[in-house]
Amino acid sequence: MREITLEGQRYRHFSSNDYLGLSQHPAVIAAWQQGAAESGAGAGASGHVTGYSRHHAQLEEQLADWLGYSRALLFISGFAANQAVIHLLAEKNDRIIADKLAHASLLDAASHSPATLRRFAHNQPASLAKLLATPCDGGTLVVTEGVFSMDGDSAPLAAIAAETQRTGSWLLVDDAHGIGVTGAGGRGSCWQQQVKPELLIVTFGKGFGVSGAALLCDAATADYVEQFSRHLIYSTAMPPAQCCALLAALQQIRQGDERRERLQANIAQFRAGAATLPWQLLASGSAIQPLIIGENHAALTLSQQLAQAGCWVSAIRPPTVPPGTARLRITLTAAHQPDDIDYLLEALHDAAH
Ligand SMILES: *Cc1c(COP(=O)(O)O)cnc(C)c1O
Repeated sequence: MREITLEGQRYRHFSSNDYLGLSQHPAVIAAWQQGAAESGAGAGASGHVTGYSRHHAQLEEQLADWLGYSRALLFISGFAANQAVIHLLAEKNDRIIADKLAHASLLDAASHSPATLRRFAHNQPASLAKLLATPCDGGTLVVTEGVFSMDGDSAPLAAIAAETQRTGSWLLVDDAHGIGVTGAGGRGSCWQQQVKPELLIVTFGKGFGVSGAALLCDAATADYVEQFSRHLIYSTAMPPAQCCALLAALQQIRQGDERRERLQANIAQFRAGAATLPWQLLASGSAIQPLIIGENHAALTLSQQLAQAGCWVSAIRPPTVPPGTARLRITLTAAHQPDDIDYLLEALHDAAH
């Protein structure tokens, strides 16, 4: 998304996760409108009763086919999908070993589950290997993300998958920020690194520009989750019209690399111009470009200065990020024009003086 209007004021928008600009795409909007005209505004019931339509089935089939899995199961959000999967699969005596910086939806679910939660040092397979080497009576689920939401860095998935496999454990990868945006044809971080986790979570509120999520897995796991997940049974299904919008977004994502290339060009332009700023720009090749400011107050002040200059950039503070690393989480999208990036860089350089 390129612009945002807040209280009547228009800003160039550098805080959305709409990395490909698909939330504004005419084909996606039209698909949602037409879907609503044909199927109504809502699903009307849980998928277990009558809420599951042919649009849901079509979307699940296309996702599974696209990502090379037997099955896909839709959830109303990434948060719900992570809660559902971990709640259902992690039992007493089991163990979850998660990256320290994993998303709250994963860590919350893990800490509420009867399984033991251990955390490995961020993106360090050796730290994971050490934890895996300690014995556990039950099964072990290793949990990480494709692209991390606050640092924008990618997980070394091949090394993590190798460690996980060696001990017969299962791997869950949440690719909320990678799907649609990275990898051949937008198939995400796992595809890019030639890794096929037992459980892959993709979400639709970011690169897809809509909302919702899916679990990709084998048929037996999908059957089990479908039959027993309370998050599916006791919750209204995704509106069928939303499935239509998601099918249109998927078509845009699969169609070509133009949007991904534009995003990459914007990232390169931003990083080149930001190199001389007095703040630390994290080593991120993704749409998430964090500028570490340090103190909370300084980060807030900078965010306000940028707003006065017409750029909306949110300051992210602890506890969302570690103490002393308050930051501007700058997100770039394919919808930004070179002029938008220059404008932001100029505002940042002005604020630095
Ligand atoms: C955004 C995000 C989620 C939550 O997805 P929603 O669909 O917005 O609920 C889950 N996991 C990660 C890693 C995320 O960044």
